[in-house]
Amino acid sequence: MSRPTLEVQIQEIEYAAEDFLEHLDILNLRKAILNILTTVDESPTKGAVSTISDETLKDLKKKAVSSKKPISSFIDPLIFNRDVVWSTVREIAEYLVRHHPQGESLQRLLEALEGKLFDAGEAVRAILYEDAEWFKCLGDSYGVEPSMLLFLFEAPLQPFFEDLARRVEEELKDTWWEPFCPVCGRTSLVARIRQRKRYMTCKFCGAEHLVDLFLCVNCGNKEPYSLGFLTFEEHPEYELNFCEKCNHYIKVIHEERLKRKIPRGLEDLLTRDLDILAEGPELSFKRA
Ligand SMILES: [Zn+2]
Ligand SMILES: [Zn+2]
Repeated sequence: MSRPTLEVQIQEIEYAAEDFLEHLDILNLRKAILNILTTVDESPTKGAVSTISDETLKDLKKKAVSSKKPISSFIDPLIFNRDVVWSTVREIAEYLVRHHPQGESLQRLLEALEGKLFDAGEAVRAILYEDAEWFKCLGDSYGVEPSMLLFLFEAPLQPFFEDLARRVEEELKDTWWEPFCPVCGRTSLVARIRQRKRYMTCKFCGAEHLVDLFLCVNCGNKEPYSLGFLTFEEHPEYELNFCEKCNHYIKVIHEERLKRKIPRGLEDLLTRDLDILAEGPELSFKRA
């Protein structure tokens, strides 16, 4: 199941804040970012210059299925409205400079954004084609973590991709079978299990897609004897799946055993304790 509208996601953060008091700060940050994205989400084209028609989308889906490449790799970066991308990135950066513990590092970048010292189109291209090198170079120039830059520049595109995920997920959810997201191409860190099926849930666009229980989404390993499952007596709703070949892990949520609801889009945030355990000295796994 893909994500609901931003309005509903914001409401759900408010409910989750009551259940997960220990994650209040991060939930508030998430809510603030979603509030900034509301303007993009409410525009009929979701930040693009035009909407993708059902006909075009059908074609994109076909290309994705036959080539086993995500839909995002067939989208022209020029479809995004650069002014919208630019103003949204600026608004989020301004918010982070004021409120995020590492926000100060963004001050120089914010000045560059205000002076339009680099091209918004390039940033969109780097997001669509997953050009990690571009973010690394930009990060080096401005002294900002590449992961922070990625977060900043992909945010304005999120409403567009969430919408795309809602439109195509039903058809691709149970038939895609690749380790990465069929819509945006990202490898997810979290899966949801229901009726013994393991669905990866994309952190970016929210699309779900079924993967084999014996598959490492990081390296593609399919050998059952080198794939491990770690369960917790006190928390049967959670599990870690890890791969002995590449040492990466994903977090798994058993939907039918959940005591506190985990809304769509908050899977990674609300299971942060599992990362601390998985990456701690005893296990020393890496995030997929
Ligand atoms: Zn995705
Ligand atoms: Zn692996």
